[in-house]
Amino acid sequence: MVMNRIIQHLKSSDHVLLASHLSPDGDAIGSLLAMGIALNALGIRTTLFNESPIPAVYRFLPSVNRIRSRIEDIHLFDTAVILDCGDIIRIGKNADAVQQLPAVVNIDHHITNTRFGQMHLIDTAACATAEIVYRIIKRAGLFIDEALATAIYTGIFTDTGSFRFSNTNKEAFSICDEMVARGADPYTVAKNVYGTYSLGRIKLLNLALDSLEISCNGKLSLMILTRDMFDETGTRSEDVDGMINYGRRIRNVRVAALVQEHMNGRGPEMYPKRYHVSLRSDGSVDVAEIAAHFGGGGHRDAAGFNIESRVGDIRKDLFDLAEKIT
Ligand code: AMP
Ligand code: MN
Ligand code: MN
Repeated sequence: MVMNRIIQHLKSSDHVLLASHLSPDGDAIGSLLAMGIALNALGIRTTLFNESPIPAVYRFLPSVNRIRSRIEDIHLFDTAVILDCGDIIRIGKNADAVQQLPAVVNIDHHITNTRFGQMHLIDTAACATAEIVYRIIKRAGLFIDEALATAIYTGIFTDTGSFRFSNTNKEAFSICDEMVARGADPYTVAKNVYGTYSLGRIKLLNLALDSLEISCNGKLSLMILTRDMFDETGTRSEDVDGMINYGRRIRNVRVAALVQEHMNGRGPEMYPKRYHVSLRSDGSVDVAEIAAHFGGGGHRDAAGFNIESRVGDIRKDLFDLAEKIT
């Protein structure tokens, strides 16, 4: 079976590179940390990598300081495990070099997964990549300590929007129940993830809500965050996480969109394109398909893409699209 083959392969690897996507969310970080702890328990040498800064709200996670933002020497590694990425380009500028490694393992739950790499554990029914990592840990017969439990719990808790999104399945509850029994503390996780915001973030939320517009037919909501707004509030991309849900909660809205301007060429947050567009749906519209049309991807209800355009044109494209929602 493929999972056994992957575990066997990892055990025979010399040094494994673990990586997850740019602008990491709780699942990207939780899965990365959990996999790191698990492979170490199996006696496997690992390096944890994420190109973006770790958002402040996730810095409480055990062993988070192990995550490196640079790959010093790609030739050190004989295997890479890519977590929570629908496409290997989501790890950032090292994607090409990583793809050249002798073995690439692709562990993910995005519907738009390109099936990159030689070994795949892709399950679009998994609520989070952390759910798949949990299965690996169980299959490998590892003991789940507090650090591992907290990483898995955080991945599932955040990717399901605190058990509210459509990916919230039976496993989300059963695994989290077990993780709490193993030492994950729901209050500590929730307090850090949702209760340690900077004042700037709340001010940015104010600007985001102020930018809210609804399409003529009422089916699409749009928020726009410009670089000036980030500058004015002293915030950055990580502070936008979750804001789109306000646009989604409006009655009759089927698709919520949030456009954010990148810090292109400035500071550590370098993106290939000028704008990132996040899309969420109420389930009646496949936003992964829309995002894929613009070169991005994601899940049926949550997707995104990067675009080099003008904000007025993006706005027009999205409102034109809204009129096609039946
Ligand atoms: P976001 O709106 O950026 O939080 O992303 C929502 C979902 O879409 C996440 O599952 C992402 O992994 C996915 N996604 C976002 N941007 C991209 C992209 N440029 N390419 C592929 N998938 C993306
Ligand atoms: Mn993710
Ligand atoms: Mn995920």
